[in-house]
Amino acid sequence: MISLSLNPETESLRKELRSWLKDNPPPQLAEKVSLEEFINVSRVWQGKLASGNWVGVHWPEEFGGRGLSIVEEAVVQEVLAEAGSPQLINIFGLTMVGPVLIKHGSSDQKKRFLPKILTAEEVWCQGFSEPEAGSDLASLKSTAVLNDSGDWIIEGQKVWTSFAQVAEWCFMLARTDSAAAKHKGLSYFLVPMKSEGITVRPLTQISGDKEFNEVFFDNVAVPPENMVGKPGDGWNIAISTLMYERVVLTFARHLQSESALQDIARLLEERSASEDLRARYGMLKAKSMALRALALSHLVQYKDGGHPGPEGSMDKLLWSEVFQEINEFGLELLGADSVYSDGECAWADGLFQHRYLYSRGRTIAAGTSEIQRGIIAQRVLGLPR
Ligand SMILES: Cc1cc2nc3c(=O)[nH]c(=O)nc-3n(C[C@H](O)[C@H](O)[C@H](O)COP(=O)(O)OP(=O)(O)OC[C@H]3O[C@@H](n4cnc5c(N)ncnc54)[C@H](O)[C@@H]3O)c2cc1C
Repeated sequence: MISLSLNPETESLRKELRSWLKDNPPPQLAEKVSLEEFINVSRVWQGKLASGNWVGVHWPEEFGGRGLSIVEEAVVQEVLAEAGSPQLINIFGLTMVGPVLIKHGSSDQKKRFLPKILTAEEVWCQGFSEPEAGSDLASLKSTAVLNDSGDWIIEGQKVWTSFAQVAEWCFMLARTDSAAAKHKGLSYFLVPMKSEGITVRPLTQISGDKEFNEVFFDNVAVPPENMVGKPGDGWNIAISTLMYERVVLTFARHLQSESALQDIARLLEERSASEDLRARYGMLKAKSMALRALALSHLVQYKDGGHPGPEGSMDKLLWSEVFQEINEFGLELLGADSVYSDGECAWADGLFQHRYLYSRGRTIAAGTSEIQRGIIAQRVLGLPR
């Protein structure tokens, strides 16, 4: 793992968290744990971290954070990973809707929602993608129309909505003006998942997990105070959310590469692997470290209150592709043994097979690789369309 050697304050933050974790050790969860167990354990764990003020440290103090930089947030993530902490359940709340509310929310929205995002008392899901609107998000068809009592009535369908089956709230986009240009007619809503008219249907992924869902909105009434910004602001707000997702969330995901590499190193040792295989491992480790350093160099740019820009697409693209390479290498090392994904013959209970299948979705979620390349070409490199 790269050690981030930073200024003395950052290093003392690292020490402080390490010492807190000695008294409050994280729960140790197997990677192939059931969704129910993950949710229950991770919710309690995030609450405990929040009680020590270790969640959202880069949020301003007035909203429950410590007012630190995103680099310091990265250090917290690193120390948590080092201690084997499970991923925090409210990841969409912490990295997406939380920062969006801090930037665009009303003071009532901030007061109402931010504290419970930190403690995971209210878990959030992201209702953006639809059956006909993934990469081309602005073409989404869900609608929200004002009724006589001043509520917005939402109709439509979302898909691939991770954690919708356990979330208390959904941040979503719906079309409020069908006459406007497609990017301009969208608005951003905060919707309680217990609302009458919402149906959630889990979908089974290639890995066997049931993390994501279809979500149907049938005549769902949402009060006007649950809109973020003004009608028609949805696209700009969504774009700033996606930039947070690509930069901050992707940084946290480097930790997944790290644990995959550690397991590969263990297998190489156990099987007394050849020099060639060890050299390939070294190459993957070097790539992973370089990408982490690149992501960090982007985070440093936001130190003085700046907001993530399109360079997060580089982190997301490169990380997801290298993560797949790492997991393909894991399966290759298992060789013929990779046919055993469970039972006593399976190495580490089929961990590599599960990770390999899980990693396929990483070049799709949060924007496909093709879309990231388009953003890098046009918005980072300034190439013509
Ligand atoms: C594990 C996982 C979790 C997810 N969680 C959520 C979630 O919680 N909430 C949510 O809202 N969404 C979620 N998604 C959805 C995700 O954002 C979409 O799958 C993604 O944006 C791609 O959209 P699509 O599946 O409709 O594919 P499409 O947009 O139909 O793309 C199909 C293919 O065409 C290519 N393509 C499309 N447009 C272009 C273009 N302009 N240039 C070049 N190539 C192009 C794509 O790269 C892709 O290969 C999740 C997806 C996954 C895999």
